[in-house]
Amino acid sequence: MNLKKSAQALAEAKKFMPGGVNSPVRSFSSVNSNPPFISHGLGSHIFDIDGNSYVDYVLSWGPLVLGHAHPRIVDALNRQIARGTSFGAPTLLETQLARLVNQIFPSMQVMRMVNSGTEATMSAIRVARGFTHREKIIKFVGCYHGHSDSLLVKAGSGAATFGEPSSPGVTQKTAQDTITLPYNDISAVENAFNQCGEQIAAIIIEPVAGNMGLVLPKENYLRGLREITKKFGALLIFDEVMCGFRVSLGGAQEKYKITPDLTCLGKIIGGGLPCAAYGGREDIMRNVSPDGKIYQAGTLSGNPIAMTAGIETLKILLEDNLTEKITAKTSKLVEGIKKAAQIANVTIQTPQAGSMFGIFFSDKEVTNYDESAAANHELFKKFFLSMLENGIYFAPSQFETLFMSAVHTDEDISRTISTAEKAFEGLK
Ligand SMILES: *Cc1c(COP(=O)(O)O)cnc(C)c1O
Repeated sequence: MNLKKSAQALAEAKKFMPGGVNSPVRSFSSVNSNPPFISHGLGSHIFDIDGNSYVDYVLSWGPLVLGHAHPRIVDALNRQIARGTSFGAPTLLETQLARLVNQIFPSMQVMRMVNSGTEATMSAIRVARGFTHREKIIKFVGCYHGHSDSLLVKAGSGAATFGEPSSPGVTQKTAQDTITLPYNDISAVENAFNQCGEQIAAIIIEPVAGNMGLVLPKENYLRGLREITKKFGALLIFDEVMCGFRVSLGGAQEKYKITPDLTCLGKIIGGGLPCAAYGGREDIMRNVSPDGKIYQAGTLSGNPIAMTAGIETLKILLEDNLTEKITAKTSKLVEGIKKAAQIANVTIQTPQAGSMFGIFFSDKEVTNYDESAAANHELFKKFFLSMLENGIYFAPSQFETLFMSAVHTDEDISRTISTAEKAFEGLK
């Protein structure tokens, strides 16, 4: 595969941006490689400026559950753009999207639209602290909740990929208010609450974790978190920015039947445009300005373009049980990849949750960050590069999750499986 133009484009971009990119993992430095520069996308495929095409399982890191340039979304956006792109004043679209979100996530009784998952989690933490009048929060090692200071402590995803579990620039004081505990270990949570439970404002968690690779919650783990937070008067925040609309349409809270106090959504909710939301119990959310004193605002929050893409995406998802269909496709691909690895005598773990899936080069199930970090990243790198070379676009790190869309075809899936078979053979 020729990536000459992309290599030139990266050199040019590096003059103006760190790594030549606007988000670190895009640089492909984790796999000692150069990223293809994308020219356009259509359905399940993306096309680079060198003329190569790829079956896309990154999907803009999750949002594009309907694939690229879905005709209904393109139409809706075209109609809205002609009417103006932002007013900084209320529109009917904001209530329309909020109503749809509330229908799918009934626990989000009252909510705010923001522009990124980072803003959603940062604001939810502020609300939790303002509501409880407590300062400490608990987060889990390997969970990523965006890059705001108090959450950028032992974060997964790009931070893990680059071996920077906590970032320079996050002050000691801030980090001290963030208690980090291993995922899937309820006794660690009990110990923390027994030590300083009356100082803890909230637990924030990816109820299905997608930023240390895909890691599922153990049986009764989420229920345990619900019980202990209730007992100590702390809030339970589900960060469903990635797993919302994927694990099940109504997210992990629907699948595992746990009602959090606050929920953060992002990625899919904006249908490929910058949009996210946080919300939850009405008695908590009424403390947000102007109903209450907890301040949070945004010039472009709830802008009509993002609202339009979000509304159209959620409407399409609600039609004919699309989530179940995408999940079935994901299972088919995961089964195929598992079989391909077996044939090549390579041991992998292939966790799946709805339309999310992952590959770990590990001989045992991965249940937390340490186990994810212990998987064989060298083998993954080789596997990834071989897939890319043959037109299959996976995320360039074992700490990331892969995604299926509604528009991936049977042919895409069988091609992916046969390409994986060759890639596994090549690892021997
Ligand atoms: C992507 C992600 C975020 C951050 O969202 P951005 O829009 O990138 O700021 C937060 N939490 C989780 C679980 C995510 O996957």
